[in-house]
Amino acid sequence: MLPLSSNLKALPGIAEERQRALAEAGIKTVEDLLWGLPYRYIDRGSIAPIESLMGLIAAPEAIGSIVTIQGRIADLRQTTSRIKKMPITEVLLDDSTGTARLVWFNQPYLFRAFKLGQHLLAWGPLVQDRLGPEMHSPDWEILSNGSGGLGTISTNAMSEARANGMDANREGSTRTASSTAQPPKSGDSRPSPPAPRHLPLYRRIGKISGRARQKAVQYALNQIEAPESLLPPQLSKGLPGTLDAFRMLHAPPDASTTEELNQRISPAHQRLAAEELFAFALGLEMHRQSRIKRPGHPVPTTPELREKLKTFLPFPLTTAQRRAFKEIVGDISSGRVMHRILQGDVGSGKTLVALLAMAMVAETGGQAALLVPTEVLAKQHAATFAKLLGPGGHPMQVLTGSMKTAERRAALAAIEEGTASYIIGTHAIIQESVAFQNLQMVVVDEQQRFGVAQRESIRGKGPDPHWLVMTATPIPRSLALALFGDLDQSVLDELPPGRQPIETRLIGQSHIETAWQKIEQELAKGHQAYVVSPAINSNQECTPHSLRDLQTMEATLQSRFPGTPIAIAHGRLKPSQLTASMEKFVSGQAKILIATTVIEVGVDVPNATIMAVDHAERFGLSQLHQLRGRVGRGPIPSQFIMVSDSDTARLKALVETSDGFRIALKDLEIRGPGEFFGTRQSGLPQFQVADLIRHRYLLQQCRDAASKAVSEGITEAQRRWLHRSQSRLNLIDIS
Ligand code: ADP
Ligand code: MG
Repeated sequence: MLPLSSNLKALPGIAEERQRALAEAGIKTVEDLLWGLPYRYIDRGSIAPIESLMGLIAAPEAIGSIVTIQGRIADLRQTTSRIKKMPITEVLLDDSTGTARLVWFNQPYLFRAFKLGQHLLAWGPLVQDRLGPEMHSPDWEILSNGSGGLGTISTNAMSEARANGMDANREGSTRTASSTAQPPKSGDSRPSPPAPRHLPLYRRIGKISGRARQKAVQYALNQIEAPESLLPPQLSKGLPGTLDAFRMLHAPPDASTTEELNQRISPAHQRLAAEELFAFALGLEMHRQSRIKRPGHPVPTTPELREKLKTFLPFPLTTAQRRAFKEIVGDISSGRVMHRILQGDVGSGKTLVALLAMAMVAETGGQAALLVPTEVLAKQHAATFAKLLGPGGHPMQVLTGSMKTAERRAALAAIEEGTASYIIGTHAIIQESVAFQNLQMVVVDEQQRFGVAQRESIRGKGPDPHWLVMTATPIPRSLALALFGDLDQSVLDELPPGRQPIETRLIGQSHIETAWQKIEQELAKGHQAYVVSPAINSNQECTPHSLRDLQTMEATLQSRFPGTPIAIAHGRLKPSQLTASMEKFVSGQAKILIATTVIEVGVDVPNATIMAVDHAERFGLSQLHQLRGRVGRGPIPSQFIMVSDSDTARLKALVETSDGFRIALKDLEIRGPGEFFGTRQSGLPQFQVADLIRHRYLLQQCRDAASKAVSEGITEAQRRWLHRSQSRLNLIDIS
């Protein structure tokens, strides 16, 4: 019996050549191998004899139902559709009770993937054909190359099961998985045992076919000993042990439910999800603990300072702002480094909280930097700060990419010599090579575009500054724990008083004139309007296609609003052009701004009271909510109009609620965390079973358990397990 962490080399039953291929695919230990779960389970009982489909296709209501069949490839051909000239791959599948045609469109590589005589498993919707049962674009799996003859369905399934699992049992020890029947000890004269009910399917990885993976897994399962449970009892309660969970998933007992297995909600899945999330939570907690120990510059707070800060406030803070500020003050005066995330819905007043925090540093002789994603935002924040700080404020320095060389040199000198107390600039600029004289705090606005790695990169220079990270999109608390779990959280869960609700509408493309009329009415009152056209990415790039959309929109609006000054903003413009264009709108010179999502973050033009978004279906819900947050920023009632002909059920969520946290959750459920956070946010862990959305409550439990475990001291075994899990899950490095 071997431990789970054993190298595959310790398993003589896996041929050396195969071991090499597995290692190339990143599978080096038994643990790596077992964590590669089947992507699907087929209930052998659901495999239909093709004969029975003949009867089915006679009944119209059966057409379109999902069926699973298996058989031998009796014929294979490639044709081209007559009209669209599309390649068509056709397979005739024979299971000795009858034949069925399988058809795939426009996937010519399939012709090469299949071979005559192979045993193929196929599942998909049944369609009727003149000639008999047919399936269009079914999912499929090659079960064997079928060099031997083809038996009946059941022996076929059985020989497969033997090849996949039971032979391995025979080669190895006599111990078998609890779920599989005892194979015959010797000779083959006795009848074969029935095949297990579930056929697990694995994906190919590199050179290793799904079937080869399955064989290796089945062999390994019988060579390893049950590991000590590393989950605290409160997390493992009612769940199978680790090894049992692996057995249940790689060789499911006949009693398991196919549905539960395929939806990944079986108790065995829950066990593995808990392990992944606990390892993850433990890693974050250890990271947090080591960070908490780091000394930070203690920012002294005095009654005089508090009085001075009050003079910067144009209005009383909301209760939530006051609470968040108090939490920040607690951190930065503690002598430890602050790592805090400030979450709040769009318009909740994060900037004011940030300004107060930065002012504490500046007023006590330190430097505080504000990092923003765009140059427009940098200038806008600088203007806001200058207004609030008044003429007596400490000096401020803006640093952006479009600065001329001399200007830039002077700015860098001011930062290095310490004559600038507030530094406001774009992420990229500040990261490059800025030397600060006495940097005590960094505030990152719109964290979504600023990853953990980037945060670490600034941390490297000089003594650790305090960090305050502001999210662009509110993130459900449970998920924020997952993503920013090493940060402490402050939440602004209230909007400043006097906000007018934004009237939100969803209209069809054929009613776009309604949007233009509403805009016309607003312009007549002296207000301004945004018109947003889709760009594929929010990260400052647009495709030629969306650029064309933008130009079409410009032409449309120019003829619809003749003589009205229109500005255009998109990511293809040079930073200086973009800034100039935005400034035209901010200053009120341009009345309409046609833009891609470059305006999504932060821009503040209180006189803009209406926004129309064309092809709203191309945006994520949170993105639309962000866009909506660009209007309704003053006391004037504002409107938000989405123009779309598709995906309207999803878009209605925005009409129904203005709560950014709820919208974010919905968005996350629909798109998944990867999409939601964009490809730039690469720090997401790679879970095999756990799902950050579905398991968010479990994650919360894991967090609690992890903080308890860390404070009580984790065991050496836990530490080793944690290290292995961390690298497997692609988690942040813990050291
Ligand atoms: P966000 O959280 O989206 O960054 P901002 O900081 O831009 O929000 O604030 C949105 C608007 O609310 C700004 O115009 C700001 O001046 C105003 N604001 C912020 N705090 C308050 C407050 N306590 N009372 C009234 N208005 C406020
Ligand atoms: Mg903001």
